[in-house]
Amino acid sequence: MITRKSAEQIALMRRAGKVVAEMHEECIRAAKAGATTLDVDAVAREVLDRRGARSNFLGYHGFPAVVCTSPNDVIVHGIPSSEVVLKDGDILSIDCGAIIEGWHADAAVTVAIGDIDDESKRLIDVTRESLEAAIAQVIEGNRLGDLGAAVEGRAEKAGFTVVREYVGHGIGTAMHEEPQIPNYGPAGRGMKLKEGHVLAIEPMVNAGGPETEVLNDGWTVITRDGRRSAHFEHTIAVTDHGPEVLTVP
Ligand code: MG
Ligand code: MG
Repeated sequence: MITRKSAEQIALMRRAGKVVAEMHEECIRAAKAGATTLDVDAVAREVLDRRGARSNFLGYHGFPAVVCTSPNDVIVHGIPSSEVVLKDGDILSIDCGAIIEGWHADAAVTVAIGDIDDESKRLIDVTRESLEAAIAQVIEGNRLGDLGAAVEGRAEKAGFTVVREYVGHGIGTAMHEEPQIPNYGPAGRGMKLKEGHVLAIEPMVNAGGPETEVLNDGWTVITRDGRRSAHFEHTIAVTDHGPEVLTVP
């Protein structure tokens, strides 16, 4: 069952989205060489407290933090840790969400720690562009497959690959609602987008092959070939005047 949200409901999700954007700003500022990924989680917790928002990550199937921190070859779901010290040349994906009055928002960004190599720069740029290409397709009457095709087209043109095991999702009174939103597949297929649908689109793009592996902690998803991966996500509403990205300041 795919729900359509009213203008009032989307207004609450917009408030949650602003909190997520502020969490990202603080996390990006904290993500410096010498900091730990637990430091990044700590500043995100402060934003949630300050804004009177709750975390949709903390306690999710037992997840112990409010942010997923995924460096280098970690694709998604990395657990913040005092043992993971960021260093110059790393890349870090920061994924977090917030709940305001029962309504959720969810977004992710990948950043450079200091000076990074050219391939990592290109990987970050292409992944961001693949999300932007998908957002441009969030128009009433378009189909879900148009989003995946946009992501895959951008990533593959750059010689990168798209992760298939993890996908985007509808979002509303739960973080993960129907439908699933793959980052691949043919255009013109799948559900038609309607006003009031709210989607979390989240391409995960690998520098090498698309294969993934989960570490023994049950969370951390890495690339099987050890090459780097980037992740961008926004929560987007389908409106009668095109896409509205809710996870912005
Ligand atoms: Mg998500
Ligand atoms: Mg997310």
